[in-house]
Amino acid sequence: MTRIPIFDLDGTLLDSDAALTAAFAELGVAPEQVTFGHVLAEECARLGIAVEDYVSQYDVTAAEPFPGIEEMLSRLERWGLCSNKHPDSGRAELARLGWSPEVALFADAFNGPKRLGPALDAMGVAPEQAVFIGDSDHDRLCARSAGVEFVVAGWNPRARAEPGDFVATEPLVICQVLDRPRSGKWSL
Ligand SMILES: [Mg+2]
Repeated sequence: MTRIPIFDLDGTLLDSDAALTAAFAELGVAPEQVTFGHVLAEECARLGIAVEDYVSQYDVTAAEPFPGIEEMLSRLERWGLCSNKHPDSGRAELARLGWSPEVALFADAFNGPKRLGPALDAMGVAPEQAVFIGDSDHDRLCARSAGVEFVVAGWNPRARAEPGDFVATEPLVICQVLDRPRSGKWSL
């Protein structure tokens, strides 16, 4: 049975580090101070800037998909998105790219860091039927705490695998992952 993928957005589908960093730079934050994969409000608070100022500086036309992402998405019957991104930025990018995930949850859907439970519920998908693809330690934690298999977006050179992670070296590998049984590499 084909399983259902849920993706992180920044650093997983979108090669967005430069766009994210540029918005902070416009507000006087040095690029080396910026870290990725966090709730935007927390990263803004850490860096001493207002979320609204950040969102107004973020260029929703700047980030492009990683190579191979468009082809992979075109082969999927169902997919979901679960991101810590600000909803205004994220929805504008989905519209620009013409991407229509079945469910797209952004930071406003969670009271704190993103969780997969609401996305699974909205899609009517059990944890064992889903795969979460992400690039950060927080993504791995999200997957594990929801009982969902985690796959590392290995096409992003910044993504770091942990022992036991399945690493997809290119986006089309995801299609193969969906058609195989869940790996038994870890359990709750
Ligand atoms: Mg990410």
